[in-house]
Amino acid sequence: MLALDLRSLSAMSGLMAVVLGLVLFGVRANFPESIRGLRLWGLAPLLCASSTVLFVLNGVLPAWSLVLGGNGLLMAGFACFLFGSQRFAGVPVSWRPWGGVIAIALSLMAVFLWVQPDYRVRVLIFTSTLALICVFHVRLLLRHCRGFASRLIVGVLSAQALILLARGVSSLWLDSPTSDRFAPSLVQTAYLAAFSFAVLLVSVGVLLMASERLRSEFEHLATHDGLTGAFTRRAALQMADAEMQRWLRQRQPFAVLMMDADHFKQINDVYGHLVGDTVLHDIAAQVIGALRATDRLGRFGGEEFVAVLPATDLAAAVAVAERVVASVRSLPVLPDRPRCTVSVGVAAVQAGDARFDQVLGRADAALYLAKNRGRDQVAIHASAAPVFD
Ligand code: GH3
Ligand code: MG
Ligand code: MG
Repeated sequence: MLALDLRSLSAMSGLMAVVLGLVLFGVRANFPESIRGLRLWGLAPLLCASSTVLFVLNGVLPAWSLVLGGNGLLMAGFACFLFGSQRFAGVPVSWRPWGGVIAIALSLMAVFLWVQPDYRVRVLIFTSTLALICVFHVRLLLRHCRGFASRLIVGVLSAQALILLARGVSSLWLDSPTSDRFAPSLVQTAYLAAFSFAVLLVSVGVLLMASERLRSEFEHLATHDGLTGAFTRRAALQMADAEMQRWLRQRQPFAVLMMDADHFKQINDVYGHLVGDTVLHDIAAQVIGALRATDRLGRFGGEEFVAVLPATDLAAAVAVAERVVASVRSLPVLPDRPRCTVSVGVAAVQAGDARFDQVLGRADAALYLAKNRGRDQVAIHASAAPVFD
């Protein structure tokens, strides 16, 4: 039924691996440096493919080059996939431990090739080493990576580890000490086919993982302000609109803080724009620290920020605003960071509001009030009404 020629199967999978490796190297050249691991991921299928060349030349090359070289390259290929993922995840690459494991596995295989020739033990050593690499790779991805692509690789590698172990153990009674890798058996065909699919799917998986990271980096760039790390005006307005819709549909309250750094022009004039930038960055960090995890801070322009506070009424918002003002005031004065303060206008959504502009307008008016009353303080607008009707 499964009358596949194992040599052709190996050759085909090798060719596929070469293409995938080249694609990964091509992607490496086009992706930003911040996405790491692609070079190692590109090298991995190429190593697997070079091992195939040795296996296809079975009979032409001496047996030892196939047993040690071919299997060694395959193990190095799978380790490279793992190393790429380590680099991608930003954890130290474990060259030495895995180099050691592969060296021990190859030495043991050499013993069972020359000293006590036994194909079955060699298969067991090879498959369990490779399964070990797969298991560690799965563990790394589960701990450090999220998303569809990473889960795809976890699935493929887990299945591959099981297949490897099954092949290793079954070899003990299915094969004889002198069996040949290319002896056509159902188990061997399934095992080699699974190998090809694993290399293919893991390569596609890492490609997807890199694309997911690229997309999220672009998304971050598009929605965050480079200097302060706060959301951009557009992103903050989108969040505010979502809150407004929740209010209109479900009457879930929300509040807005409108903040402006005090006498900022003076800081720029006296200390220069670079110091001004640092102060702006530090103010934003203090504000974010004083907000709650669910609150969102957006830079509205210049030294003006807006925070959206979901599920918050006016009284709670005033308490948060007081914390923000105190937190900025508490920034220690340094030689290159003069004293700085912020004024905050607070508004909460109220009965009769149909658009976010209305809430923002009240927060803006309240900010104006805080400035007029002497700055470094919180104000609410006189027309602020109780939140619940
Ligand atoms: P007030 O207390 O009334 O808010 O006074 P102010 O000086 O802060 O108000 P004004 O709006 O007149 O000045 C804001 C200044 O903020 C002017 C502008 O040069 C500066 N500014 C805006 N964006 C940036 C920035 O990204 N970096 C730096 N260094 N300065 C900025
Ligand atoms: Mg200002
Ligand atoms: Mg201003």
